[in-house]
Amino acid sequence: MSVLSALGDALFPRVCHVCGVSVSGDSRYVCPSCLAGLPRTGYHRLPDNAMEQRFLGLFPFRQASGHFFYSRDSGLALLMHDLKYRRFRGLARHLGRIVATELLTTGFLTGIDIIVPVPMHFMKRASRGYNQAEEIARGIGGVAGIDVVCGLRAVRPHRTQTSLSLARRRENTSGLFAVRRPRHLAGKEILIVDDVCTTGSTLTSAAEALLDAAPDARISLLTLGVTF
Ligand SMILES: [Zn+2]
Repeated sequence: MSVLSALGDALFPRVCHVCGVSVSGDSRYVCPSCLAGLPRTGYHRLPDNAMEQRFLGLFPFRQASGHFFYSRDSGLALLMHDLKYRRFRGLARHLGRIVATELLTTGFLTGIDIIVPVPMHFMKRASRGYNQAEEIARGIGGVAGIDVVCGLRAVRPHRTQTSLSLARRRENTSGLFAVRRPRHLAGKEILIVDDVCTTGSTLTSAAEALLDAAPDARISLLTLGVTF
């Protein structure tokens, strides 16, 4: 540990964002016990898993996985809250690294050429200071050695999805994204990364935009959390 980081730890003691115990070294944001307790879906090795079923018939894709189960009262919800609303940007990247580390030996990331994070509208990004999906993507890309390309931009802000019906959600997210660098996407194996998958309508909009611009691209989807 460097003198500076030791000093930093003394001034700002690090605590687990789930249970509050103090943590050190590699644990950083989550203690080993809380990390072990986050429920893994195992979807990366389950073809036709419950997340993939949300996209069947909507657009062609190779594979889809949400790494952890997400529910409102879960440890993951506490982490998600802190990385989104309490400006713990490093936590988003840290969780991306954890996901990638667990996927490295599974083949899920094999053959992926680029990672494209789901973008955030620039107004929202300006107020938050970062896009958590991009931070998660950078954590994954860093571990897996895959380039992150911010190939999409949000054309308009979209409302929070939770209060809308399924039909309204599709309306709300349809045509939401535009492609930024089509030349970088042609023929590529693209992994779209987001923080959480609920109905899948945001990921569907992202995939549709990418496939419109690069019909020969192949799409995979990966999120940190996925609802039951
Ligand atoms: Zn803990």
